[in-house]
Amino acid sequence: MRPCGGASGPSGVCGAPLGAFWRGGVVQVFPCIWKGQYFSSGNEPAENNRGTPMFRHLMYKIKSTGPITVAEYMKEVLTNPDKGYYVHRDMLGEKGDFITSPEISQIFGELIGIWFISEWMSSGKSSAFQLVELGPGRGTLTGDILRVFSQLGSVLKNCDISVHLVEVSQKLSEFQALTLTDEKMPLERDVESLVYMKGVTKSGIPVSWYRDLKDVPKGYSFYLANEFFDVLPIHKFQKTPHGWREVFIDIDPQVSDKLRFVLAPGATPAEAFIQCGETRDHVEVCPEAGVIIQELSQRIALTGGAALIADYGHDGTKTDTFRGFCGHKLHDVLTAPGTADLTADVDFSYLRRMAQGKTASLGPIQQQTFLKNMGIDVRLKVLLDKADESSVKQQLLHGYNMLMNPKKMGERFNFFALLPHQRVQGGGHQMGPNQSKPSASPPVAGFGELTWR
Ligand code: SAH
Repeated sequence: MRPCGGASGPSGVCGAPLGAFWRGGVVQVFPCIWKGQYFSSGNEPAENNRGTPMFRHLMYKIKSTGPITVAEYMKEVLTNPDKGYYVHRDMLGEKGDFITSPEISQIFGELIGIWFISEWMSSGKSSAFQLVELGPGRGTLTGDILRVFSQLGSVLKNCDISVHLVEVSQKLSEFQALTLTDEKMPLERDVESLVYMKGVTKSGIPVSWYRDLKDVPKGYSFYLANEFFDVLPIHKFQKTPHGWREVFIDIDPQVSDKLRFVLAPGATPAEAFIQCGETRDHVEVCPEAGVIIQELSQRIALTGGAALIADYGHDGTKTDTFRGFCGHKLHDVLTAPGTADLTADVDFSYLRRMAQGKTASLGPIQQQTFLKNMGIDVRLKVLLDKADESSVKQQLLHGYNMLMNPKKMGERFNFFALLPHQRVQGGGHQMGPNQSKPSASPPVAGFGELTWR
């Protein structure tokens, strides 16, 4: 039995058998910002910069070695081990800078948990799998997925599951441990090791923390990245009469404590990432995302499993999407660096190219379509029917609206998957000329029509 058919819609697994557990306490019915809005930068007063340690660090760097690429700027600002935005704070939720889907509604993580179970069943119910999350934030998403795994324990009963979290932020790894682990089981810590922390989840599953995907053991795995790729460093390029020129960040000569964008006087090495025949006049490329996708696709091709990537993004069509968020407001990207999140929309066409044909890719499809296919309406109804308090009902409806409304996250947020080729062969989609007809695989839940790339 497959729990949630893509075209046929959800069956019981999305509804009653999951129970009506209300995670509670997290969803805000106040105007939290989701990272889907745009802002042009450069007009903030310079005095806003004074005093941020990251600003002083960047000024020193630029004065000693010259203007820096946007990628270098993003990397320093977000993940510098001393002063990086992600390294020392909890930026999610009401008191933070932005809100993400798992923090908005428990249904998001529950449906993703069902997606993984569906894939596990469709690909032969292996005796073990790793759940690997990239950039787990507060650990809320993995927590919701593990609750689904527990509630569907009879389906997964003979399967050996382990959890692996890839997180650069020490502070957030502590939050993740609080959310996920059993406080009676002490955490093992070793800052020198590639596995810098280990623990056991509340349901008895081993959980390990790494700084880099490369350090996660290879093996049959389900990979997950929600709002992770959008914070990876991007290079920006502008088309000029002299060809492509990379955008750099320099100190404003008119105002000494202000940063500004400048164009490189000649070609730079990162220009190699621009596709020949590119028709846009401004492009953003994220080589680090390419490296991660190559690693994921190699692993999936070798040992099986799947990767599910959810993010703001486009299919190689958008231009300037670089933006900042602070205190649920859009924030100038060059002002007070280190105090605000920086993000850029994910170019899914680039991710697809970087899979280099090692795996099949599905999507991007809009969040509203994916969640609808996964049975969000059935799940919402179950939770509403069981909710006694009107405030809980209101929170559930508010969360649903944030996730599904086309003007909120419904259209701008996308799902994209990498799967072994054999998983999507024979499902009624177009095949390569030299392929013999394999037996039809069940459709992949959540994604409507399958496309063969
Ligand atoms: N997935 C979470 C949090 C998204 S915020 C959610 O949906 O709520 C981005 C997350 O990625 C944070 O946990 C941040 O610390 C982590 N992160 C950012 N850059 C990273 C990198 N280069 N490697 C690993 N984790 C990173």
